[in-house]
Amino acid sequence: MKQINKILIANRGEIAIRIMRTCREMEILSVAVFSEADRTSLHVRYADEAYYIGKAPSAESYLNMEKIIEVAHTCHADAIHPGYGFLSENASFAARCQAEGILFIGPSAEVIDRMGDKIKAREVMSKAGIPVVPGTAGSISTEGEALQAIGEIGFPVIIKASSGGGGKGMRLVHEETEILPAFRSAQSEAMEAFGNSAVYIEKYISSPHHIEFQILSDNHGHTVHLFERECSIQRRHQKIIEETPSPQLTPALREEMGNVAVAAARAVKYTGAGTIEFLVDSNRKYYFLEMNTRLQVEHPITERVTGVDIVKQQIKIAEGMELEFQQDQLAIRGHSIECRIYAEDPDNNFMPCAGKIYKITEPLGLGVRTDGYVYEGYEIPIHYDPMISKLVIWGATRDESIRRMRRALYEYKITGVKTSIKLLERIMNQPGFIAGKYDTHFIKNNQEQLFRNDEPDDCDDMVFIAAYIDYLSKLSLYQDNHKEFVPAQSLWKKIPYIHHF
Ligand code: ADP
Repeated sequence: MKQINKILIANRGEIAIRIMRTCREMEILSVAVFSEADRTSLHVRYADEAYYIGKAPSAESYLNMEKIIEVAHTCHADAIHPGYGFLSENASFAARCQAEGILFIGPSAEVIDRMGDKIKAREVMSKAGIPVVPGTAGSISTEGEALQAIGEIGFPVIIKASSGGGGKGMRLVHEETEILPAFRSAQSEAMEAFGNSAVYIEKYISSPHHIEFQILSDNHGHTVHLFERECSIQRRHQKIIEETPSPQLTPALREEMGNVAVAAARAVKYTGAGTIEFLVDSNRKYYFLEMNTRLQVEHPITERVTGVDIVKQQIKIAEGMELEFQQDQLAIRGHSIECRIYAEDPDNNFMPCAGKIYKITEPLGLGVRTDGYVYEGYEIPIHYDPMISKLVIWGATRDESIRRMRRALYEYKITGVKTSIKLLERIMNQPGFIAGKYDTHFIKNNQEQLFRNDEPDDCDDMVFIAAYIDYLSKLSLYQDNHKEFVPAQSLWKKIPYIHHF
């Protein structure tokens, strides 16, 4: 056992602060690293120490292994927590940490390597008797192989990058004419995004649910699951709302899938916190999709219903401690939903919106948690993921969670940049979501109700008011100096629009 006294968090934004909060509770010192673009980021201020690691592009800062390891030595950190994204699923980084005598808070490099490659992961799981989505056993490198494989699997299929993540490198194919262009573009996107052009082909499950199980495994052979998260509300194959428990699972299926998830983790001798992702079809048949060998963005909903601090467990497991609980001591209490708040414009194809936050009012009250990192006057950099906060709600029942989420979204005001808040509110009022009857096509199938340009946008109003106040102050200066002025027509025309303030 090794006691950890200081952790370097090789990440930024909300997840860096989330991890530092647990460090503070455990009386462990936290070290932030930051890029040029993050000098004013809250994670830098929150940490006990902070070190500059390079220019804004991730490749020159948050992905710079050597620099991060150098900082860990300089500040005498015992361990590195990688958060999610960046180096969190990089086997070479985990191996480098180990070679340098720094604990990597996550599984071994070998496990990361095997599970990071989706083709290898499918092979391991099939061998362990875990049902995987029907598809090719290995990678497909020629167009001829692609045609033959699709002939055997049958339409529709999905071509996927072996090193894929974040919904990238995937192409859906419904008919023969689409095969070759889809195959080529999946390969080139995979090469560009992951430096590896290997792709494989899976049967496309037509109305699936994305349901994942949270796993905790210690170094002493104990593995438990912390139940499921329903992650089917997605845009561009990326999750935007998650809930637990899933309205789709029966108690018997939950137990069965939980046991399968534990068996899957055991099959790879997993240690730490991890997630087994499944696709569940309309007949409630489930298939292994992939394993994420890190903390998930949506981990707080599991924390909310189980009462387990997952980051604390990660740290204790890394220290070599045994899990403090067994499966039968874990239970789901109530219901939890997470809404991801993005600085983006849902009505303009989810275009990211970097810029300055003029004003922010975060929701408070019973059952509300926000994990964020932006503040008034903060300028969101263009270089990173546009997620600025996670709103996590707990309710005694699903109905109470939805009502509380609506109330919290109503209280949440961010002005200066466009956000996904209005879209999330519309989803919370959509009958299919309220009934718990939705699959991964929910957003696409409800376009008309969810995307509307007819509602006034608080953000636009506030940007206008700020500009207007700015204009007036300049105007009075101008008047003082010149005793005359010419009103800017474009601004005056907008004045009636502010009446609802
Ligand atoms: P990534 O690692 O890029 O997130 P995943 O394999 O986890 O990719 O899949 C992301 C999402 O893409 C899933 O949640 C689901 O919506 C969709 N998807 C992936 N594979 C299939 C499939 N075989 N059939 C139907 N949908 C799929």
